[in-house]
Amino acid sequence: MPTGRFAPSPTGDLHVGNLRTALAAWLFARSSEAGFLLRFEDLDEATASVDSEARQAATLRRIGLDWDGEPIRQSERLDLYRDTIADLTKAGLTYRCWCSRREVREAAAAPHGRPGAYPGTCRDLPACRIADLEESGRPAAVRLRCSSTEVTVTDRLHGRRSAVVDDFVLQRGDGTPAYNLAVVIDDAAQGVEEVVRADDLLDSTPRQVHLQRLLGLPIPDYAHVPLVLAGDGGRLAKRHGAVTLADRLAMGDSPARVVAVLASSLGLDVPEHEIMPRSLVDRFDPSALTPEPWTLATKQIEAAW
Ligand code: GLU
Repeated sequence: MPTGRFAPSPTGDLHVGNLRTALAAWLFARSSEAGFLLRFEDLDEATASVDSEARQAATLRRIGLDWDGEPIRQSERLDLYRDTIADLTKAGLTYRCWCSRREVREAAAAPHGRPGAYPGTCRDLPACRIADLEESGRPAAVRLRCSSTEVTVTDRLHGRRSAVVDDFVLQRGDGTPAYNLAVVIDDAAQGVEEVVRADDLLDSTPRQVHLQRLLGLPIPDYAHVPLVLAGDGGRLAKRHGAVTLADRLAMGDSPARVVAVLASSLGLDVPEHEIMPRSLVDRFDPSALTPEPWTLATKQIEAAW
């Protein structure tokens, strides 16, 4: 059975932008009678919490989304990620990197750098330099040697996009496996065939596809749905006001009202004032989705919908 998923980071309450992505992912899956999984991406110990997890799950249920089986947690799968890093290292495909974020940013901003891409500073360090760095006690991240491979990704909304993959991080300096590695391992292990998520991750996708190819894993279909922006042009966030489900309920909206607004923003024809996801399954048309962001004016955020 094809399978979709929603994979939030449990670092706070979901806002309507996250709920819209979850609804889209759920509709993609359930309208094709596919399975749907919930996965908590809680690798960042400093920000993730079990409390956020419970609240996120309750919010999703409250707006009528369901999933199959128990959600998994990435923090319980560290051995799996570390084993993969060890295999890649054995194959000579990784190296240690001592660069700080700031050093990477500065090098990437230099005249021949590519914004956001790792410039390769630690790729081929001489042994004496490595010995010095080891001695300095500075923590080392682990990067994948990508040899400037160009990867083309086909996305349902954004079409074909090619990018040169830089040597991205597989394990952070503090020893935590990186998102791009964990997501690829989990999507494959869980049999995810369709990844529907927010389009702020579109630029990470070529890295993930490169890793899937290296590891011999299947490549899922991708649909990156647009972010929700606030009237000020920024990505919708708590500071913009009534943006969580609890906020909307406190303003007098019902869960079904929130779903109706989110569904219309996804291009669905929703004449009803209130509706729950189950009743949308037959009306869902993935081709009605467009890659433009949905902008919520301050007035729309402040008034009941
Ligand atoms: N955990 C990521 C987030 O909350 C989503 C990752 C994904 O869907 O691949 O932004």
